[in-house]
Amino acid sequence: MATPALGLLGPFGIALGAVLLLKAADDAANERRRKQAALDAYWTRRRQRAHEAVLGIAKRIKALANLHSLPPFVQRPGSRNAWVQHGIISYDPDWIMELLETYCSDTECNTSVVVGIIAHELGHWIHGDDCDIQTHPWHMEYRADGWAAWVLASMGIASSHFECVLATIDRHGGPNHPPGPARARRIRVLYWRWLGYEVAA
Ligand SMILES: [Zn+2]
Repeated sequence: MATPALGLLGPFGIALGAVLLLKAADDAANERRRKQAALDAYWTRRRQRAHEAVLGIAKRIKALANLHSLPPFVQRPGSRNAWVQHGIISYDPDWIMELLETYCSDTECNTSVVVGIIAHELGHWIHGDDCDIQTHPWHMEYRADGWAAWVLASMGIASSHFECVLATIDRHGGPNHPPGPARARRIRVLYWRWLGYEVAA
């Protein structure tokens, strides 16, 4: 129907057709922009929630350990990691939200994993492990893990979920990190010792 009508209208019809085409393209562009804005708002809210969760945990640890201050926390989306560099703790907010929401089937377990991660990084920070990107020798890793075990034990949070994450995410270790299973075993021993049990290493 549209073509004969435009044909009958002559040059005016062609102009009208062009206007309609432009409007359709404009609508499509607006729709794309609207979808992108909605997506941006979703990620902004999600990262804001990650920020609140991480800071909330850090503040609980600060109170527990009588720390005078906390380091700045900076978000590094896409890194799937957390680390200390130049006195700043960097973390991937999307990874943290994934862990908080979906690592285990219950909130307590998911929260304990993230508490373990934040405690480990704060352990580096309070001990001044301020190397360049992730180049903490093994003894610094074990020390930060030991501090995290103390935080978990003091907060009454089970260490088993955090151990599980460490044991599975990096099974073989590398120059900067000891093998995950060895770290998990050591955390378990220290955790129970903090709680007053005699556990063989
Ligand atoms: Zn570390």
